[in-house]
Amino acid sequence: MDYVDTHCHMVSRTTDDYEQMALTGCVAVTEPAFWAGYDRVSADVFKDYFNHLTDFEPKRAAQFGIRHFAWLCLNPKEGEDAGLTQEVIDLIPPYLDAPNVIGIGEIGFNRVTRKERDSFEKHIALAMEHDQLILIHTPHLEDKYKGTRHTVETLQADSRVNPARVLIDHAEEHTLEMILDNGFWGGITLYPKTKMSLGRAVDMVERFGCDRLCVNSACDWGPSTSLAVPHFIMEMRRRGHADAEIRRVVYENPVSFLGQCPKFSVENTLTGG
Ligand SMILES: [Zn+2]
Repeated sequence: MDYVDTHCHMVSRTTDDYEQMALTGCVAVTEPAFWAGYDRVSADVFKDYFNHLTDFEPKRAAQFGIRHFAWLCLNPKEGEDAGLTQEVIDLIPPYLDAPNVIGIGEIGFNRVTRKERDSFEKHIALAMEHDQLILIHTPHLEDKYKGTRHTVETLQADSRVNPARVLIDHAEEHTLEMILDNGFWGGITLYPKTKMSLGRAVDMVERFGCDRLCVNSACDWGPSTSLAVPHFIMEMRRRGHADAEIRRVVYENPVSFLGQCPKFSVENTLTGG
């Protein structure tokens, strides 16, 4: 089944991952900018990173027929450094014209601090000034509910934000309703060992339905798999769900959400079809 993975940190994966993803039906990925595993000390490093996301990765994906799109930002964790935040925000606007950049992300909260909020608000303003889609990271574990609530409130405080143009990832059972009820799109980010299992994800689809819902793999440098979406497809089939319903979650919904950016396309880079 064709699918779109809306949250892949391909910079931390090998070319073999692209091949396996293509073989299992992946037609497009979107890659949010994220934390590198250490706090970066200079905006120049972000320049290199953004060049990588807008040049090297789309070319690497294209070899397997996969379209690659990117979201740019300084991630929530590094928002503690106010000086660096401003420098990186100033760096972003010219990159928004790159053919594969579709929005600002993944932004939001990590520990819900004052400085993180300042950084988050600046990124929302940047997205609104340049008419960009937004991808949100919500904190893990004990900060999940509180962090998601602060995220929703911060987005709603800017009257320019249209919730239909915002995807809130890392949703869980106790946060998805709040996300969907406020008009946002919800993303379930799947992990093989920690955070969110396939069984819980299918439970959530059964409980909340498929409207404005996407699933994705994260596939970063931590415990994760680039094939989480095809595993989700298999789990949905095992639980008796029809292919039409599964296709809505893994293909039609992401295409509807991402298609709000005119640059987004699922056209195969090898066949042109
Ligand atoms: Zn991520």
